[in-house]
Amino acid sequence: MENLTNHNNNQQTQNTTTGVLCAKCEHLNPASAELCEKCGAHLYIACTHCGRKNKRVDARCYHCHHRLHHSKFHRLKRKLVPKNWKSLVWQAILLLVASFIVYKIVVMIANYSP
Ligand SMILES: [Zn+2]
Ligand SMILES: [Zn+2]
Repeated sequence: MENLTNHNNNQQTQNTTTGVLCAKCEHLNPASAELCEKCGAHLYIACTHCGRKNKRVDARCYHCHHRLHHSKFHRLKRKLVPKNWKSLVWQAILLLVASFIVYKIVVMIANYSP
């Protein structure tokens, strides 16, 4: 009986002393910390649905179970579409125009008969 209560107590103290894992570098921070001691990343994230503060490592809100992070598909899409896509489009257009001009010149030279 004594062993059983001891075990329960141990579990309880373990739960309260468990800190917050950093979502980026997985450093274990004290529960009171707002930022990661190692890399400075935010440890908590506000739920977009109910606004409650959640641990960033958790996938869903503890209160309303709303997803805290974007889905993998969303992340993939963000990776595939870079932020500077507009400049990339302009570069592609310039490249097209340049290759068109070069093509025209080549055709002109090929058709040139003195
Ligand atoms: Zn960290
Ligand atoms: Zn929520």
